[in-house]
Amino acid sequence: KVYNGEVRVEALSEINLHIKKGEFVFLVGHSGAGKSTLTRLMIREEVPTKGQIMVNGKSLLRMRQREIPYFRRKIGFIFQDFRLLMDRTVYENVAFAMEAIEMPIGEVRQRVPAVLEMVGLKDKMNSYPHQLSGGQQQRVCIARAIVNDPMIIIADEPTGNLDPDTSWEIMNILYAINKRGTTIVTATHDREMV
Ligand code: ADP
Ligand code: MG
Repeated sequence: KVYNGEVRVEALSEINLHIKKGEFVFLVGHSGAGKSTLTRLMIREEVPTKGQIMVNGKSLLRMRQREIPYFRRKIGFIFQDFRLLMDRTVYENVAFAMEAIEMPIGEVRQRVPAVLEMVGLKDKMNSYPHQLSGGQQQRVCIARAIVNDPMIIIADEPTGNLDPDTSWEIMNILYAINKRGTTIVTATHDREMV
């Protein structure tokens, strides 16, 4: 992957990897190594300058623009900076991900409390993000990422803004999700965590 801006940046080269269904994979490397680029390539936010990427048996290069939203529904994303809707409650933030793909309201009412329970936030359902700690906010993001039952979760430095104990909790939640069969790809520069 080459970024052709004012200066030419070769962000990734000679990358060759195969991630199997059900694996828990860490992408490790220093800042600037290309971890975020690789995660963005996997969700087709970027396209490679050369090469091929297959996800769930589909070539991301051949994928048409209108197919992209459907492709992304099968993937859950988690970001370092949470990206929650600050003017909506915890419940609403998670429900929003289901409403975006037009899930029936009955299913939303059932599923949202269930995933919030899974990440240990059922009692914070009506709180706003600013009323939560960083670790709790990241757990909302995890709930949002898993609510539509994705096959794959891609997390870019999910513990980058969290203290070590909280990071450990978050990783344990991801580990539990992986044990249920979801493939997880996590970019991190935290070798100790790995
Ligand atoms: P990491 O996530 O491992 O820190 P990145 O994938 O963000 O690494 O960046 C890899 C390289 O690509 C860096 O040199 C960075 O400056 C460059 N880069 C990343 N995104 C862009 C972009 N949108 N435009 C130009 N260069 C970029
Ligand atoms: Mg990055």
